[in-house]
Amino acid sequence: MADYDYDVLVIGAGPGGYVAAIRAAQLGLKTACAEARGTLGGTCLNVGCIPSKAMLHASEYFDAAANGAMAKMGIKVTPELDLDAMHGQRRDAVKQLTGGIEYLFKKNKVTWLKGHARFTGKDSVEVAGQTVRAKNIVIATGSSVTPLPGVTVDQKVVVDSTGALELPKVPEHMVVIGGGVIGLELGSVWRRLGAKVTVVEYLDQILPGFDGDVRKEAQKIFKKQGMEFKLSTKVTGVTVAGDTATLTVEPAAGGAAETITADAVLLAIGRKPNTDGLNLEAAGLSVNARGQVEIDHDFATSVSGIWAIGDVAPGLMLAHKAEDEGIAVAENIAGLTGIVNHDVIPSVVYTMPEFAGVGLTEEAAKAKGEIKVGKFPMMANSRAKTNHEPDGFVKIIADAKTDRVVGVWAIASVAGTMIAQAAQAMEFGATSEDIAYTCHAHPTHSEAIKEAAMAVTGKPIHI
Ligand SMILES: Cc1cc2nc3c(=O)[nH]c(=O)nc-3n(C[C@H](O)[C@H](O)[C@H](O)COP(=O)(O)OP(=O)(O)OC[C@H]3O[C@@H](n4cnc5c(N)ncnc54)[C@H](O)[C@@H]3O)c2cc1C
Repeated sequence: MADYDYDVLVIGAGPGGYVAAIRAAQLGLKTACAEARGTLGGTCLNVGCIPSKAMLHASEYFDAAANGAMAKMGIKVTPELDLDAMHGQRRDAVKQLTGGIEYLFKKNKVTWLKGHARFTGKDSVEVAGQTVRAKNIVIATGSSVTPLPGVTVDQKVVVDSTGALELPKVPEHMVVIGGGVIGLELGSVWRRLGAKVTVVEYLDQILPGFDGDVRKEAQKIFKKQGMEFKLSTKVTGVTVAGDTATLTVEPAAGGAAETITADAVLLAIGRKPNTDGLNLEAAGLSVNARGQVEIDHDFATSVSGIWAIGDVAPGLMLAHKAEDEGIAVAENIAGLTGIVNHDVIPSVVYTMPEFAGVGLTEEAAKAKGEIKVGKFPMMANSRAKTNHEPDGFVKIIADAKTDRVVGVWAIASVAGTMIAQAAQAMEFGATSEDIAYTCHAHPTHSEAIKEAAMAVTGKPIHI
């Protein structure tokens, strides 16, 4: 290793990169992490998971006070919005958590190379004018907002997810382009704070990738909360005059165009892998048709010593997927066996209620073979009912012959937390019977998972 500056150089300090760097250092490898942003933590901590959850959590309190949910429980309040303070607590959460990663880097002796990294060879990278050689290089550069032709993000009237977290006032009418997780979460924040929100989605349903029942129910619930939807509709352009945006939309299948005006437009049609400026060619690498760096089961690219994880590699663009890959890649580099089971990665929409799932959708499971499905409504769950949270259900999909659970979907106020037990059960190869005969504390929302498992064999107690 005489010629090398580091055993491991990680490019990008998001949840994939910073976790890989810390684990590599824990395993005794001399490790550096290059990060261009002024703070560590990547998209997730700076402009993604964490700030969006800070705004969702705060706006949920406001909504509960404003919409009568608190009054229902005997608490009469008329809320007054202090948006600056709400933004302040969001920024504070981000500051504390990104600072926490800096502390962890110091504690684990990971060197932070500040600046944009670009390959100069298979084992060398230039960062801020300095060339660094490493035996192993992990590409963890993440992703950024997918642009839409005809739509220019000015971060004032037309914003992406980063701008939508920072709006200085509540819009009167926000149009969200894209009915996926990010659009629905951030649309919910501003709807709760008083905006009229219209979601324009190209497909005929929201939440692509989720179970069909969940997608249908989600739309009903968001509609009931006041969101408007224009499905099977494409946005062909946005023009801005002063504080007003005019969107031109037309049916996805073709037809007459119409216009919608708004004082805020959120572009949230997806994210694309970050490889611009990386100079992958110098390392002998290229990207696939989706712009991702291809990897094998061990996260190794086609060039020996170069690895890729997280949003820049194929798979779900989720922080916990990136983190788990970060641990696994470091363990593989250290000669251990790092594995991520990509069949069991939970997905969560952090609205109220939350929408969560792990494993196969009912549609995908059916396409693979015979299945049994058990469903239990949250309305019949004592805790959800007591808490005035009647919306939602749990659905368990099991293989008809082996009873092995292949998918679990939940809509509940705490579905994101509930789904962890389903993921764990699936990791252990559980059958629906295993879940049905596991004692669940009463009264908890999680009892709905037990009851849904009992429903697979047609024997739930409370419906
Ligand atoms: C609004 C929003 C909400 C989200 N909410 C959730 C959620 O609730 N749960 C969830 O699981 N996921 C969520 N995500 C997705 C999640 O943020 C990503 O999946 C996750 O951050 C990916 O991690 P990563 O390490 O692959 O990349 P990133 O977090 O994108 O980090 C990559 C880092 O690499 C740096 N970088 C890039 N190129 C270079 C270079 N050449 N040199 C140096 N540094 C470079 C970037 O500056 C960045 O900091 C959300 C995303 C958004 C936008």
